[in-house]
This record gives sequence, structure tokens and C-alpha cells, in this order.
Amino acid sequence: MEMIPFEKAYEIVMNSSFITGNEKIPFTESLNRILVTDVVSDIDMPPFNKASVDGFACKRSDLAGELEVIETIPAGRWPETSVGKNQCSRIMTGAAVPQGADCVIMVEDVKTFPSGKIRLTGSYSKENIAFKGEDIKRGEVVLKSGRQISPQDIAVMATVGHTSVTVGKRPKIAVISSGDELVEPDIVPVNSQIRNCNSYQLIAQAERAGTKPVYYGIVKDDADATYSIITSAIDENDLVLISGGVSMGDFDFVPAVLEKAGVRIIFTRVAVQPGKPTTFGVHPKAIVFGLPGNPVSSFVQFELLVRPLINKMMGFLWEPLTISLPMRERYSRKSADRIALIPVSITGDGFVFPVEFHGSAHISALPSASGIVAMPLGVNTFEKGEMVNVRQI
Ligand code: AMP
Ligand code: MG
Repeated sequence: MEMIPFEKAYEIVMNSSFITGNEKIPFTESLNRILVTDVVSDIDMPPFNKASVDGFACKRSDLAGELEVIETIPAGRWPETSVGKNQCSRIMTGAAVPQGADCVIMVEDVKTFPSGKIRLTGSYSKENIAFKGEDIKRGEVVLKSGRQISPQDIAVMATVGHTSVTVGKRPKIAVISSGDELVEPDIVPVNSQIRNCNSYQLIAQAERAGTKPVYYGIVKDDADATYSIITSAIDENDLVLISGGVSMGDFDFVPAVLEKAGVRIIFTRVAVQPGKPTTFGVHPKAIVFGLPGNPVSSFVQFELLVRPLINKMMGFLWEPLTISLPMRERYSRKSADRIALIPVSITGDGFVFPVEFHGSAHISALPSASGIVAMPLGVNTFEKGEMVNVRQI
């Protein structure tokens, strides 16, 4: 199969998406899930005119003289008296401002006389009242459908009483690693063994996208064993991620086994670096990715292709966050027949520089990268000072 441009691969992947449906869950369990209905407030916020400092609630027109203190109003207790001329009420942050008062002067700006009366000694700066409904109006949409729920969103849901939330169902995701050389992380590798890091990286990436993948383990470079694990993974999931076994080596059977399992392979090579040997196929029961064995390639291809798909399946209108910053120095490459995805870091003063990176097996380079920069097809140089788009990873 020929190598296809990244844009084409992306379009194919996104067009293969199906919707996994919705479900209602408690808002306390909704972190990282995808909101699929608008959240509407059942109250004004603040629900009453609220003091935003500790001080004295009074009339602005009385500030030149001494004021009689008529009440103390703690947060959570409704005021009993309204403030009249030359009067004030001592008030705490978060308490309801009494009738008659149009400002709260700060306790720090006030002098108390032996008579118990008070007077503004500092200068008046502002009213220090958060007015009823100034943040949120009852009936207002406070969170729009199609976003990934953050801790801040959960605070907003709590505020507006949205305790049961409708979210996109998580696609069921299988993670498999393939390779005779692989051992699990708790084993010390001997001879030509390598620790399996892809499975754990993919699981973490899928969890970050709000899903709960199931780990199917390591499968040997054996067509029958691969067939058996692939068929059960397809049967039990919406999305199957298998890494390794997709290169051109003698033991790279994954694409052939996928075909035998009834997967219609749509592409096997994408014009990106790293991550060229990315295989994608569809089966009536599941979508399947054969991701490259090298961990940096697997990471990048998940971010570029798998994450947008998962998001779409759950109803998330996701756009990766990118920022435009200048290159600290010139960067060039020899051949420009693929999009290069360059792991980069950002200096304190806002310049972009590629991290030391020895190639797609160099997974320990990634933690020091704060993003990736895509060098387009046909381009082989970024000049010093040239603006580039850094995509957060
Ligand atoms: P493959 O695609 O199977 O040819 O693998 C390409 C390279 O990635 C080889 O050096 C493998 O040892 C390595 N590799 C494959 N799978 C994993 C994995 N799960 N974790 C770490 N390295 C891997
Ligand atoms: Mg292999």
C-alpha cells in the first residue's frame, strides 16, 4: 500500500468515527468526560447582594460623618434591619448586604470611637458589593455542550445545582503490545529484551482523553496468537490499539492478521516522521489502529490520529491548543518528503528549541518536551526567529 499524506489519513480516521451514545452520571464522577448537553443555572449568582470584604455596610452619601453601628451580619444570616441615614451594619465577607446600604467600607479603612460609632478614615475606592445575578443569571447557559469536563466545570455544576450530568459514553478501548522481545516493566530485561512501555503510555493517553482502556497484554510475534487476541479485542471493544509488528520486518504480521480477522485495512503508511508505519482499518464491530512499535512514534500517532477520533466518538469538539512562538535557532533536516513532528521545549523568555532527540525510540526525550512543532512537507528549514506553532502534548 502507498504512503498517504497526513491530512488524508486524518480525514479517513475522522470519517470512520461512530458515536458511542450518551449516559447520565453524577457530576462528581464527570471529570474528563465529555459534556453533551448545555448546563443551565437554576439560580442567580450571587443569589443576593453580597459583601465582598469585611467592613461596614452604609450609604455613600453618609461617608463624611460618624455612623452608628446597628447590627452585625455574619455570612449565612439574613440582615434583620435596614440601614438608615448615618447608620451602618458591621458585615462579613459573603454576607447579604442589608436594605438601605449601597456600599461596604473596608474594616481597615475605618476608625472606631469610644462611643461605638465609626468613621471612614481611609479613602473610598469602590462599593465592594457583588450584586445579585452579576455572575450568572437564572436560566443562563453556564457550560456549553461539547467540552471536556474540568475541575473548574465541576465547581460551576455544583454552583448551579447540576448534580446529574449527561456525558458521551466512553468508547471501549483495547490496548495490546506485540513483540517477542517485550517484557513487562517489573522485569529486568536480559539479552535482547526490551521493556514494554507503549502499552502503559497508550493507556495513560487514552485515560487522559477521558476513557478507561482495557489492557490485553503482550502478544508474541506469532500469527495465530496475534489472530486470537485481535479477534477477541475486536469483539469486545469499539476501538483496538495494537502497537508493534507493523513495520516491514519478517515478523511484522499485524496487518495480515488484521485482514484475516475481517478488518478492512485503509492505510498502512502515513507521510509523517516519526510514525510512518501506522496502520488503520475498520471492522463492523470496531475501529483498529496498528501503531508503530517505537514509543515516540506510537505517542505521536496517538495524539495526531487516535485522540481526535476518541474525542469525536464522545462528542468532544476538540481543537489541540497551539501557540505561535519564534525559533531560538535555525533548524534544518535533509529530506522533506514527510511532515516532521519535532519535540520542542520553550525557554523562559518564549523561544522554541528542539529537545535533544535521537529518533523514534528515544522515549526519554519526551518528558523534557512541552510540545511538538510540525515541519510541513517540502520544507526543510526553520530560520532563527521564524514563528512556529507549538502544539501542546
Ligand atoms: P516493530 O514495529 O514491532 O518492528 O517495533 C519497532 C521497534 O519498537 C522495535 O525496536 C521494538 O523493540 C520496539 N517496540 C515495539 N513494541 C514496543 C513496546 N510495546 N514498548 C517499547 N518498545 C517497543
Ligand atoms: Mg516487533
